[in-house]
Amino acid sequence: MNRCPCSVAAAAPPEQAMPDARLKARDHSLPPEKVEAALALLRQVAGDYAPATFANSLGAEDMVLTDMILREKIALEIFLLDTGRLPIETYDLLAAVEKRYGTTLKVFYPRHDLVEEYVRTKGINAFYESVDLRKGCCYVRKVEPLGRALAGKKAWVTGLRAEQAATRTGLPLHEKDSANGLEKFNPLADWSEKDVWAYIAQYDVPYNALHDKFYPSIGCAPCTRSVTPGEDIRSGRWWWESPELKECGLHLKKA
Ligand code: SF4
Repeated sequence: MNRCPCSVAAAAPPEQAMPDARLKARDHSLPPEKVEAALALLRQVAGDYAPATFANSLGAEDMVLTDMILREKIALEIFLLDTGRLPIETYDLLAAVEKRYGTTLKVFYPRHDLVEEYVRTKGINAFYESVDLRKGCCYVRKVEPLGRALAGKKAWVTGLRAEQAATRTGLPLHEKDSANGLEKFNPLADWSEKDVWAYIAQYDVPYNALHDKFYPSIGCAPCTRSVTPGEDIRSGRWWWESPELKECGLHLKKA
């Protein structure tokens, strides 16, 4: 198993080796109607489904929604799940967001007793050993805190896009989240990766420094690595697993 991101990035052809993620938006014009549609949906959720909340992972898509919500003063709560294993660059971005928009995000942490039990009985990096152990870690560090973050809410908003992964094909703008018992809205469901980066460039939105180091999708540090340009953008997440298994349990599809 190759866990070294440096060897993957080094193999990129020079013409594709664009370490600045903003270059992805070069020559791409973001249709204004896509921005208006996303803003309209966010306003509708805030108005019709209060109390609603936005699950912000600080990924590129979530930074687009963060900017829309805070710049346009849309009445939606924003929360973040801090798993305790995030990259330092993600914490730096959180600090940058709070400074830029003059606010603090609501951060949820895992229950310490569950983390302690998992580490004591399974091991600190047991998630590499099997899908079940990986899902167990994601449950303790993400799914259980998500339940607390969504408690009492009528709806939640995500930055998911249909193009992101095999597990997200056909993603709708609005769906019933029966697993959590509330409505779920995905305002960027039909956005392309270039749309996202064009928005970030147009509005000068802060983003994770790892995006400039061939990390298109960023989660926990030990479960994320860089990809070769042109590779599937989720291929750096849980890279030792099959694509159809690559979800952490936060976004379960309807049966
Ligand atoms: S992404 Fe990795 S470290 Fe993070 S919660 Fe899941 S298994 Fe644990």
